[in-house]
Amino acid sequence: MMLQRIALTLMLVGLLAACQPANDAEMATDATTDERKTVILISIDGFRYDYFDLGDTPALQRLVDGGVRVDSLHHAFPTKTFPTHYTVVTGKHPGHHGLVANSMWDPDRDARFSLGNREAVGDGFWYEGGEPIWVTAENQGVTTATYFWPGSEARIRGVRPTYWKPYDGDVPHEERIEQVLDWVDMPEDERPALITLYFSTVDSAGHRYGPREEPVQAALEEIDGQLAALLDGLEARGKLDDTYILLASDHGMSRVDFERYIMLDDYLDLSRVRVSDWGPATQIWATDMPVEEIVASLEGAHPNMRVWAKEDIPPRYQFDNHRRVPDVLAEADLGWMISNKPYMAGRSQFQLYGTHGWDPALAEMHGGFVMQGPDFVAGSQSPAIRSVDLYELMAHLLAIEPSENDGNLAPFMPYLTATEPVVYSTFNFDCEGSPVEARVAPMHMALHWENEIHVLDRVESTNPDHPEQFQAVGLEFGFGDDSASVAIDDRFEADCVVAN
Ligand code: AMP
Ligand code: ZN
Ligand code: ZN
Repeated sequence: MMLQRIALTLMLVGLLAACQPANDAEMATDATTDERKTVILISIDGFRYDYFDLGDTPALQRLVDGGVRVDSLHHAFPTKTFPTHYTVVTGKHPGHHGLVANSMWDPDRDARFSLGNREAVGDGFWYEGGEPIWVTAENQGVTTATYFWPGSEARIRGVRPTYWKPYDGDVPHEERIEQVLDWVDMPEDERPALITLYFSTVDSAGHRYGPREEPVQAALEEIDGQLAALLDGLEARGKLDDTYILLASDHGMSRVDFERYIMLDDYLDLSRVRVSDWGPATQIWATDMPVEEIVASLEGAHPNMRVWAKEDIPPRYQFDNHRRVPDVLAEADLGWMISNKPYMAGRSQFQLYGTHGWDPALAEMHGGFVMQGPDFVAGSQSPAIRSVDLYELMAHLLAIEPSENDGNLAPFMPYLTATEPVVYSTFNFDCEGSPVEARVAPMHMALHWENEIHVLDRVESTNPDHPEQFQAVGLEFGFGDDSASVAIDDRFEADCVVAN
């Protein structure tokens, strides 16, 4: 333990200086267009972090071998497609960017948003609380292209990607890859520096059959074939070494079944409230019933459900100040769903064996993530990383000035500046009977506790017994040679000793 710690500390001396925010701005202004490399951001919807070994996926393996394998991607709350994708491209939590669910209600406009509502999906009004990376880039004269990404069809803060497509899940995957390669082939002055790509089939199979089931594997293997074509195409053009590839997903997937449904109308008169979104995290508005009465009705009503008034939602979710955050949030345990009797009665055949939307710290809600490209030191391995930090990373890679956001570039810098592969150290503790595993990287760490994985940033320590100190909203972890201390929300606080 001692030797590992000394090695880490040595790395840190240089890195703490290199990771100061002032440096980003310098790097951004130093870069010229000639030096700007292409960034391809790929989302495989519903690709859980443990799918890397699910099937025969040589292209994924090629990315891992040539890049930085990240244990998993910790998303923002709620772990749903529109909120989390928009967090990736804006660096803001849904509670700040305002895409608070796939289905949501805006009290100012008295209007609803849902994925299937084309008009709403294309209306910039819903997205104004964040600035997507393509808007930041276009505003700084950098051309961008999207082959689907939530928000990319809308004019946001007056700007759209130079090249974009109206969402159509039926577009063959080959066509998407060909278009990306055509963009890459464009002459310098037209070529996009940022390209996004999106695939929905792994998510659809996960919902229909459950995580890691055979159809999920088949969908993933098909996408892997597409990724192979992309990598081969880039290589044939001599562009692979000049391209950053960030392959992410928007959340994981967990098994659900008919036996684990909580009927909200067993406890609440639904005619007196508005429910803007159902499922693992249900969003309730006090239309005709006071907030206190809703909370009192639901508190302790079902052993697998928790309820909070808006101001009491755990700070860790950062689901706080946006007007679209509902008055009351009801959250089910992992694997449990919240619904209502009329809806369930209308479903003659049960066809949902997987879903997502729970606490982003739950390991099963973590997405897969791998990053590759010039500067990234191949063979490196990182503990879990937070998706909210990816906007800062992309701004850095594109050499543009990031807009205001909740993210942090520091966790990525070691993997971009080292000369040798960067791997993390693992330390095990016994925290008053509860095992905790700390995966410690130069600038951040992942805390593995029960079925959760939390991500914390390195901070300067003021405790001589715990020279390694880490923090995030709602989270604290510090350790030294003999002991550690941990705090997770108000749920878990303990002193720890090194476990054998
Ligand atoms: P979810 O269940 O939250 O993972 O949502 C996944 C679904 O979102 C996909 O199957 C698509 O139907 C839909 N979707 C993904 N991207 C877009 C988009 N850009 N515009 C509209 N719908 C989308
Ligand atoms: Zn999704
Ligand atoms: Zn989904």
